Amino acid sequence: MPATAELPHLLAGLKAQGLLRRRRVLAGGQGAHVRVDGEDVLSFASNDYLGLANHPELVVAAQLAAGRHGVGAGASHLLTGHHALHHRLEEELAAFVGLPAALLFSTGYMANLGVLTALVGRDGVVFADRLNHASLVDAALLTRARHVRYPHLDLATLKQRLAESDAKVKLIATDAVFSMDGDIAPLPELLALAERYGAWLYVDDAHGFGVLGREGRGSLDHHYPAGLPESPSLVYMATLGKAAGVAGAFVAASRTVIEWLIHKARTYVYTTAMPPMLAAATSRALELIRAEGWRRERLMGLIARFKAGAAGLPWRLLPSDTPIQPLLVGDNATALELAEGLRARGILCPAIRPPTVPQGTARLRISLSAAHGETDVDRLLTALNELAAA
Ligand SMILES: *Cc1c(COP(=O)(O)O)cnc(C)c1O
Repeated sequence: MPATAELPHLLAGLKAQGLLRRRRVLAGGQGAHVRVDGEDVLSFASNDYLGLANHPELVVAAQLAAGRHGVGAGASHLLTGHHALHHRLEEELAAFVGLPAALLFSTGYMANLGVLTALVGRDGVVFADRLNHASLVDAALLTRARHVRYPHLDLATLKQRLAESDAKVKLIATDAVFSMDGDIAPLPELLALAERYGAWLYVDDAHGFGVLGREGRGSLDHHYPAGLPESPSLVYMATLGKAAGVAGAFVAASRTVIEWLIHKARTYVYTTAMPPMLAAATSRALELIRAEGWRRERLMGLIARFKAGAAGLPWRLLPSDTPIQPLLVGDNATALELAEGLRARGILCPAIRPPTVPQGTARLRISLSAAHGETDVDRLLTALNELAAA
């Protein structure tokens, strides 16, 4: 860690590289049109894919639960923090994704840290896609296991590395939908490799849950519409702060794995349970995700509209059928310029730069939502065309 006196110098260095981050201050609720830094903007910058984060029925569910049960959980799950609302939500989530049991965590980041360290120790190996989310990278480091990062979606290399390994405990970790690229991991092929080589398969579905699969059941349902094969080595994680619109995460797996995590996942054991009111809001979100298929239909329509309209732009749109539509720009300064050009036109869309993405692959990460309308997407396309012509 740098000494105190060095920090201003290091920050200046970040600035010179176009890597300085600035937080925008949001006023009011999340949505397609938000008030940011005192200005009204059209936003393509949230993960609220279904437009649920500010839904009045979720608000009422949270309010009712707060009225009855208070605001804070007051303790960890293993002391007195495990509320009936948490318990019910875990059962609903397990049934929804088609696995025997589920366990709530306060955030997806914590779920990844907790599960990987509970399943793999320093004599194991974690095999990880190179474009996995930062929380999976950190989780792998925290296990102190050997960390083998295979090239993005390169299953031949993964297979070779698995075959070479004589470690007793192996775990393959992958994003189900890659967070900065929007492409989809081939889960059935990964599960077959995991079973063949006696490895765990850990699937992070932060961006698929609520969006993919029948009724929004997520990536497992997307890949296995006829039903998930029984596989004791599959461990699934999804977050509840993106499409579900609330906060937190859950892990779903066999009853034995969940029982083990209750004992060994340190980010589960040593932290205060999420407020029960959030569990109540999430249960309501789950009902809306299932019942309101129009949200996914509308989102898919907007994705198709955007892709058709963006085909003529001078920047490469990465191949993605999910709400994450990355426009690859390359260098940091150009990505920033584009984001600023959009902002001057009242549109908020983040420039994603290293270290979030590899060097030389800075991009605009356009995130679509059922909260958007067709006119919103058209406004974005018009602005991008203007910037391309400038
Ligand atoms: C957002 C995200 C997480 C972290 O989830 P939080 O609940 O926000 O902590 C983990 N994995 C992926 C792929 C994500 O995109």
